[in-house]
Amino acid sequence: MKLQKYKKKIDKTKNTVALPRIRYKMKVVETISNLNTELLKHSNKSIGFVPTMGSLHDGHLSLINYAQLKSEIVIVSIFVNPTQFNDPNDFKNYPSNHKNDLDKLSNEKVDIVFIPKSVNEIYASEKPLKIRLDGIDKVMEGKHRKGHFDGVIRVVSLLFSIVRPQFAFFGEKDYQQLLIIKSIAKEHFKSIEVIGCPTKRDKNGLALSSRNLLLNEDDQKKAINLIKILKHCKSLFNNYDNTKLEKDFFEKLKDFSIPEYFEIREISCLKRVEDKTTKQRAFIAAKIGNIRLIDNIELN
Ligand code: AMP
Repeated sequence: MKLQKYKKKIDKTKNTVALPRIRYKMKVVETISNLNTELLKHSNKSIGFVPTMGSLHDGHLSLINYAQLKSEIVIVSIFVNPTQFNDPNDFKNYPSNHKNDLDKLSNEKVDIVFIPKSVNEIYASEKPLKIRLDGIDKVMEGKHRKGHFDGVIRVVSLLFSIVRPQFAFFGEKDYQQLLIIKSIAKEHFKSIEVIGCPTKRDKNGLALSSRNLLLNEDDQKKAINLIKILKHCKSLFNNYDNTKLEKDFFEKLKDFSIPEYFEIREISCLKRVEDKTTKQRAFIAAKIGNIRLIDNIELN
């Protein structure tokens, strides 16, 4: 199977993309109306949905593989959602390469790729939802990226209403986001099962991320310390109080340009607990230059 050669034009300020024509059964659609036409062709089949912001890597592809195991039709969306970026420069610099993405997706035999042609295509149909999150959106990412989860909740709710899948796949790499999305589904989209998938890593342990593309070789070496710190904490988890672990391991972030947090929290409510038999995870966030990286690990 060969893809036709095409030119890619992306204008992020207008958030528009000139899509290529692809000779393959994979359908690429830019509008809700065309997506609905495609969905009608598969009305009796189970749909697995993998929302992404593009610049696809093996982490995204692993989500797609889980979707393929669980569902008959796999839909991937690629949309760099402006409302979830609290930092305009982060949005401007977010890597984007639709040609590479479509090449990768066609090798994975994805059925439908939804690349909204504009921000308005998604947001025009918005009916704001109220969601009770019991504080899981207020800590860690919620505290350090003000407004980020509001944008995530908005776009995921819209995509869920538009795609109406049976299953939706999200990475544990963004663990706090995964919990929030499970809450959205529980309250507003009861027919959608949200499935968390394990973090895919490089050989050296670095969690795959589209933002890794923005790191030079030295930065990449520094970034590997995130998983090293998490693993070190895991090895000491049963021997020390969490407060001490949080303090000592936050100190280890001092070589990063901006250490943001190192926190140990219970896995479903994200509250702090001391009882070592309660399931917990350690969460880490730091910036190398302007590039913000996060990771987390299961502790027990
Ligand atoms: P993004 O394109 O960064 O918004 O990510 C789209 C989805 O891929 C989210 O559910 C992420 O949690 C997930 N994801 C990102 N990186 C990884 C990874 N290294 N392993 C598994 N899932 C990931």
